[in-house]
Amino acid sequence: MAKLRGAVVINVERCKGCNLCVVACPSKVLALNNEANSKGYNYSYMANSDDCVGCSACAYVCPDACITVYRVKL
Ligand code: SF4
Repeated sequence: MAKLRGAVVINVERCKGCNLCVVACPSKVLALNNEANSKGYNYSYMANSDDCVGCSACAYVCPDACITVYRVKL
């Protein structure tokens, strides 16, 4: 079976820093950035991008549909 790696794209300007995706990620990939977006929210980003398995848990819990998950075969 082919190994999968995930990649997450976050719509930074839509993110309100609610932290739900950070908690939902089983691989502890996501974190809130120290920098804020134009609305003043500390947005989510891939702090440990190598660990993403593309499970989409982060995208499912995001209340504002800010997250798109891509999967690539290694
Ligand atoms: Fe974490 Fe899964 Fe989202 Fe990757 S797709 S950041 S492993 S919750």
